[in-house]
Amino acid sequence: MSQHFDLIAIGGGSGGLAVAEKAAQFGQRVAIVEGGKLGGTCVNAGCVPKKVMWYAAHLAEAVADAPDFGVRASAQGLDWKTLIDGRNGYVAKINSYWDGYVERLGITRIDGYARFVDAHTIAVGDQHYSADHIVIATGGRPIVPGMPGNELGITSDGFFALEEQPKRVAIIGGGYIGVELAGVLRAFGTEVTIVALEDRLLWLFDPLISATLEANMKAAGTDIHLEFEVAGLEREPSGLVLAASDGQRLTGFDQVIWAVGRAPNTRMLDLEAAGVEVKPNGIVPTDAYQNTNVPGIHALGDITGRDPLTPVAIAAGRRLAERLFNGKSDLKLDYDNIPTVVFAHPALGKVGLTEPEARERYGDVLTVYETSFTPMRYALNAHGPQTAMKLVCAGPQERVVGIHLIGDGVDEMLQGFAVAVKMGATKADLDNTVAIHPGSAEELVTMKEPVRRPGEQP
Ligand SMILES: Cc1cc2nc3c(=O)[nH]c(=O)nc-3n(C[C@H](O)[C@H](O)[C@H](O)COP(=O)(O)OP(=O)(O)OC[C@H]3O[C@@H](n4cnc5c(N)ncnc54)[C@H](O)[C@@H]3O)c2cc1C
Repeated sequence: MSQHFDLIAIGGGSGGLAVAEKAAQFGQRVAIVEGGKLGGTCVNAGCVPKKVMWYAAHLAEAVADAPDFGVRASAQGLDWKTLIDGRNGYVAKINSYWDGYVERLGITRIDGYARFVDAHTIAVGDQHYSADHIVIATGGRPIVPGMPGNELGITSDGFFALEEQPKRVAIIGGGYIGVELAGVLRAFGTEVTIVALEDRLLWLFDPLISATLEANMKAAGTDIHLEFEVAGLEREPSGLVLAASDGQRLTGFDQVIWAVGRAPNTRMLDLEAAGVEVKPNGIVPTDAYQNTNVPGIHALGDITGRDPLTPVAIAAGRRLAERLFNGKSDLKLDYDNIPTVVFAHPALGKVGLTEPEARERYGDVLTVYETSFTPMRYALNAHGPQTAMKLVCAGPQERVVGIHLIGDGVDEMLQGFAVAVKMGATKADLDNTVAIHPGSAEELVTMKEPVRRPGEQP
């Protein structure tokens, strides 16, 4: 006989925990099925361990810059083991927080991987469980493309498991994970090469951000190869080799990291047994309310292929529970203007439309403001990474439809400006805000002259 619940969340990551927590707070009988550790990708192999390493990299950079400010300090290399042990201990504390919290909420924890038996029943091992509502929140896993020697590379999961700091690394992929891992390793002194299929890094971001990022990474000593199509990996006595389809060969690496995207975790779910629609690439489509095509089966987070970010999965999960169990029948997540930050060196982020996206949507009625400068943080250093900022404004009212930032501090700066964009702020609203001085953020409320693109009338 199967045990029955009001809601079962398949996956104990950002989205599954959020929907289960809220549903339990509304007095529902809830179960979470998780094959790994509670917290999912973000806690165990994503945002959290990555950000700890980003902070360590920042400290290394600060020590290197300190003597120019008269602060006597000298870095004596990185004790990788201390960093990794500390990071893993921090992650373990978050795991045990979730273990305890889930228990205190009265949520039933089912260890193992779930598969569907029918539209209201799942199996974990040989046990069956049924529910009025089943939420698929199984996230994704790193992709390793099929090609000769692909097993010679590791993924972001393998990066977090490294027991020693690699000396020479090639990173395949110019998306946010590739850029973030490259930045951390380079700041620790590893020789880093990054290759990308596209003609710029972070091709989903504004071109100004990609260009500034590339310049900053090159200035920090990162080797960048764009429009580089990897055809295979090889092992030579001198190290690992990246062989490109046009015959180029990059040699001598002790680690190669695949960072070419993530695939949805639908493989083991047997969605056909429940009749749930799944796209050929594994994504489970939903309507705006996180409903799949089968009544009572919902999906949220990375599995849905939309904005793969932790706060998005959490927000969708909380709203779903409010809608199902707290009478808020129209509540859903608004996927417009979701801010996002890439923890590069320095950080970068965006909210809203890039300039090319805005030109496509609004055509000529676009006003763009941009600026580039070296922030005061580097006043006494010979070199410092560039900061760049862009405001994309639409219509005669100059409503701000896109903000694009790269530079020290923008990771914390963007959240407040995202509120303004969400509220429909105009350029005049920014101009009417008194600046905070001295700092980089003040540039966002003091930009004067719009940029004229070639062919544009003054
Ligand atoms: C290297 C890296 C860095 C990242 N950095 C950031 C960042 O800085 N900020 C940010 O917002 N996002 C970041 N992300 C993305 C973020 O981690 C994801 O968007 C988020 O975790 C998605 O949550 P989710 O609930 O959809 O899935 P996940 O958190 O992936 O959780 C899914 C869970 O389901 C479990 N599972 C899978 N199949 C089954 C099954 N059949 N039965 C039971 N359990 C199953 C898995 O074990 C997993 O624990 C990063 C990701 C990576 C890889």
